[in-house]
Amino acid sequence: MNRPLEAQDHDAPIFAPGAFRLRDEQAELIERARRFGRRVLAPRAEKHDREASFPIENFRDMHPEGLLAICIPRQEGGLGADFQTYCLAAAELGRYCGATALSWNMHVCSTLWSGALADDLPMSGEDRAEHIARRRLHYRRIIERGAIYAQPFSEGGAAAAGVVAFGTEARPVAGGFIVSGKKIFASLSGAADYYGVLCTERAEGAAASRRNTLYLAIPADATGVSVVGDWDPLGMRATVSRTLLLKDVFVSEQEMLMPRGVYFQAATRWPHMFLTLSPTYMGLAQAAYDFTVAYLRGEMPGTPPVKRRMYPTKQIAVAEMHIQLEQTKALWFQAISEAGPDPSKEQVLRAYAAQTTVMENANAIAAKALRTCGGQAMLKSLALERIYRDSRCGSLMLPWTAEICVDRIGREALYEAGETD
Ligand SMILES: Cc1cc2nc3c(=O)[nH]c(=O)nc-3n(C[C@H](O)[C@H](O)[C@H](O)COP(=O)(O)OP(=O)(O)OC[C@H]3O[C@@H](n4cnc5c(N)ncnc54)[C@H](O)[C@@H]3O)c2cc1C
Repeated sequence: MNRPLEAQDHDAPIFAPGAFRLRDEQAELIERARRFGRRVLAPRAEKHDREASFPIENFRDMHPEGLLAICIPRQEGGLGADFQTYCLAAAELGRYCGATALSWNMHVCSTLWSGALADDLPMSGEDRAEHIARRRLHYRRIIERGAIYAQPFSEGGAAAAGVVAFGTEARPVAGGFIVSGKKIFASLSGAADYYGVLCTERAEGAAASRRNTLYLAIPADATGVSVVGDWDPLGMRATVSRTLLLKDVFVSEQEMLMPRGVYFQAATRWPHMFLTLSPTYMGLAQAAYDFTVAYLRGEMPGTPPVKRRMYPTKQIAVAEMHIQLEQTKALWFQAISEAGPDPSKEQVLRAYAAQTTVMENANAIAAKALRTCGGQAMLKSLALERIYRDSRCGSLMLPWTAEICVDRIGREALYEAGETD
């Protein structure tokens, strides 16, 4: 017998509020994201994946739901979600459309990093007052007009991994900066209203330094901004992450998303900021598992009601997927709950471990889902094929690629600060 209709129309939360001790207002917001994902994102995901087109209507629909302002502080008119709440809501969106959740993350980070995260870092009273006045400008655009922010950091060199200064440079001039450079994989390219760019402030003749990293919002229609190249990747196709060129773009100092020196401080003292790409993939892992259970029960919409759950091999495979999913959830939940300034070494290593685990397991669970469900489950008309391809991209995302996380865990587990051989 099939499950009752209401059970099929409602997905259980990935993290049950009671079991994970979520506060009522967190649970309400995460539930809002889940319902939005299922109702709005899921039906549009296949088309945008096929076309590799950006789902701008998803972002337009997020505006009245308040989701564009999820991490804007309450006193500024946003929903005031903290880091953990944001991650849990993003995972729910990732279940239904990985590319939308990943792109949304780029937008939300511009508010989370300038909001709750910047509030945790020390600044002079003058810098704080100026920062609050400037970020209000960005928050108003988002709340009142539904403005969308992108987050193009990657340049194709070692800067996005945090090794060297960004090659995109901002030369200080009266009232602002002249910015030039190139950003690869700029998700939301051509769709965003502002590009939140990391660049190096560098006066004439000065050496480039990571300490002088600036985080600037560059208007998409500013003179000298262009988007080039084509976009036809394996997965996350609807992020439309083309190349952004900046040629002598004047950017007003009002567009600073953080005061001077604060991004560098954040990157060293608030490392969980780089865990924000993982929620999407937590959602994809859950989606691959959910798909498998529904498919084997003969309840997958669009397929004949054939049950396959009676075979012991299927049951073992589902058990293995379940164990892997629970392991991933437990570690990730702990890591996102520990985010904050100046974490302990143990907490940082756990964050790397959680990032690697989510990124690798999302794809491993999706691969097992395909093997278990079988050939008919890999048709493009079903979500699993897209989940499999999208999940493959997670471990490639800088600055915390799976390789970099493993590299750091190994080194930092064996060496204390300052030790060499
Ligand atoms: C769908 C998608 C959307 C994206 N959206 C954005 C976006 O919106 N904004 C953005 O800034 N970027 C974005 N990226 C880019 C992403 O974060 C990476 O910067 C990009 O995938 C890196 O390209 P690469 O693998 O060629 O990098 P490379 O620099 O060539 O690195 C290759 C690999 O070498 C390893 N490696 C690199 N540096 C080191 C090191 N110092 N130590 C040890 N190992 C290292 C890493 O494992 C890395 O995966 C997106 C990527 C994808 C796939």
